[in-house]
Amino acid sequence: MRIALYGCKPYDRMFFEPLSKEYGYDMIFIEDRMSHETVQLAAGCDAVCLFVNGTATRELIDRLAELGVKAILLRCAGYNHVDLSACQGKLRVFRVPSYSPEAVAEFAAALLLCVNRRLHRAYNRTRDFNMNISGLMGITLHGKCAGVVGTGRIGQAMINILRGFGMEVIAYDPYPNDQLDVSYVSLKELCERADVISLHCPLTKETHHMLDARMIKHMKKGVYLINTSRGALVNTVDVIEALKEGIFGGVALDVYEEEEGLFYEDRSGDIIRDDNLARLMTFPNVLITSHQGFFTLEAMRAIAITTLENAKSLELGRETANEIKA
Ligand code: NAD
Repeated sequence: MRIALYGCKPYDRMFFEPLSKEYGYDMIFIEDRMSHETVQLAAGCDAVCLFVNGTATRELIDRLAELGVKAILLRCAGYNHVDLSACQGKLRVFRVPSYSPEAVAEFAAALLLCVNRRLHRAYNRTRDFNMNISGLMGITLHGKCAGVVGTGRIGQAMINILRGFGMEVIAYDPYPNDQLDVSYVSLKELCERADVISLHCPLTKETHHMLDARMIKHMKKGVYLINTSRGALVNTVDVIEALKEGIFGGVALDVYEEEEGLFYEDRSGDIIRDDNLARLMTFPNVLITSHQGFFTLEAMRAIAITTLENAKSLELGRETANEIKA
């Protein structure tokens, strides 16, 4: 098996290089993301390995098929960036559905604590020996209500953490889990009651902009919004308007609708043309991170192992639940 791993960062190579040798696979590591210019590098490969920022359009999929590539191995859970209908009959698509749900939930909790207690600002102040705490006041989470949207693997891990803080947890999921001891409510009721809203559902046609001006108007003043799922679950322009009106106590985003090409790259020396992202950065109660919720040692190891197991399934013609069928 020969696999072209696109969008390779040193931390990807650190896990994939030794493991691919163990599997006896020839893995080529390409720093650039897959594009019209770089797709050719997959010639002679059985599969390409893409991350969340590796968009697979119909055109690129057709080209991969012409080059004899048989599969896309996603080294992530979400697959909204792959045109699945274009893959039909041409390329098989595999993903890593779960690697460490706790890693993402812990990160969502870290974002909540940080944005609530303004740690991002405190850190900068004290490094400058500015020991003034004005403007850094948060709320006590104990006794407050948390609304979890999406009660799958990460949502459940988040519920456990929030309960550990002494919060009452309510949830919204159109596919409620009977095994889960949580009170399910409508999205509108969740918005009305929650002091903290944390998003843990996939991006689909139904969930695109699920939190927009219409939903935000039901939210309590001072609510905290945490998004570690996908940027387009929230309408960024509407969130900015609500921030301007002082609706949110804090907003912490690990994902952003227009993150492609920006996140995972050092753009500190560039002129940023995205005015919405630039505006978000100006709010003292907004914290943005670069889609790093998954980024723990354990999760990276699990991602590499499952990706190579998916490659093995492809090689052996073995059935796996990790294959995505359109
Ligand atoms: P999962 O499939 O285990 O759970 C998703 C849940 O969302 C399910 O319970 C499903 O019923 C629910 N859902 C589906 N449609 C919904 C809707 N319209 N409204 C509310 N809920 C809905 O997925 P997971 O492993 O818990 O991951 C959740 C999301 O987290 C992923 O889709 C991905 O976008 C994101 N994620 C982010 C990172 C990161 O690094 N920030 C890492 C991994 C996953």
